Amino acid sequence: MNLTTFPRRGYVQAPTLLVPAPKLSALLGGPNIYIKRDDLLPGAGGGNKTRKLDFLMADALKRGADSIITCGAVQSNHCRLTAWAAAREGLDCFLVLEERVPNSYNPAASGNNLLFHLLGASSIRVVPGGSDMDAEMEKSAGALRAEGKKPYIITGGASSPLGALGYAACAEELLQQCFFLGAAPDAVVAASGSAGTHAGLLAGFAGCNARIPVHGISVNRPRAAQEDKVCDLAGKTAEQAGLRGVIARGDVVVHDEYVGPGYSAPTGGMLEAVRITAKAEGVLLDPVYTGKAMAGLIGLVRKGVFRKGQNVIFLHTGGSPALYVYADAFLQSG
Ligand SMILES: *Cc1c(COP(=O)(O)O)cnc(C)c1O
Repeated sequence: MNLTTFPRRGYVQAPTLLVPAPKLSALLGGPNIYIKRDDLLPGAGGGNKTRKLDFLMADALKRGADSIITCGAVQSNHCRLTAWAAAREGLDCFLVLEERVPNSYNPAASGNNLLFHLLGASSIRVVPGGSDMDAEMEKSAGALRAEGKKPYIITGGASSPLGALGYAACAEELLQQCFFLGAAPDAVVAASGSAGTHAGLLAGFAGCNARIPVHGISVNRPRAAQEDKVCDLAGKTAEQAGLRGVIARGDVVVHDEYVGPGYSAPTGGMLEAVRITAKAEGVLLDPVYTGKAMAGLIGLVRKGVFRKGQNVIFLHTGGSPALYVYADAFLQSG
């Protein structure tokens, strides 16, 4: 795969760290766990959307956009990083927030919500859970065009085929790092939400002819629906990079046992995973994505899916600003 021909903004200047997690590995008595620190990517607070926005913001500027519209949940990391990128580029940023949990939007909330304001988002519009978010963003775009502005819409989670190329690049980066470490990866574990991360990794590995299983831990949808979404986007992402027919439905693996009561709702497994990872490795996870993804990794070790001697890579996709919004859940559970 040659990704050097795609315009980018240079938000990602160097590989993120790939670090061994020996205490966590010993505690679980399972495989050698490595953590890929995409939580340390540039962007206020870091996280996986930086890699995707690197491609999408370049496309927006190429098309002459003067404003960006995107959407997400009320504590969306993606909206926070889009507001960051827009601030950097001097573009206006319009956010449409989906209130997936009724009455969960609090205009005075901390975490990412505070950062939307600090990073200068021009407006925040809240719509009910289950709204057609593409239609809502189109509505915002229509209003801006009527004022003579040139808006560019970034799909939810920046998970378009162009955005997902950011994770095809990450797959190449990861293979190179494993090569230098002398550790052949047996599996990658990552949160799977709007699917660009999972799909981009699959496309990137396929492009390197490296069939490394990527275990997507769903944070929202049931398994089959999430696998369909990932498969579709992975195929389109590979095509964007000039590869056809490299993604098979059977290659897509999603686990949905770690969602719990629903998107962003705390689970016992998440609380345990966040605590264990902080104490053993000094690495902070978040309650909505990486805490549940790590609960998935721990669950798969306990089920014997990952075994001693194997090398398993946990992709830390970020989310730390949301951790502080969940203080009560951690305190109540002791
Ligand atoms: C958006 C997000 C994810 C999920 O990535 P997708 O590409 O949307 O599947 C995982 N972790 C964090 C912290 C996120 O913000």
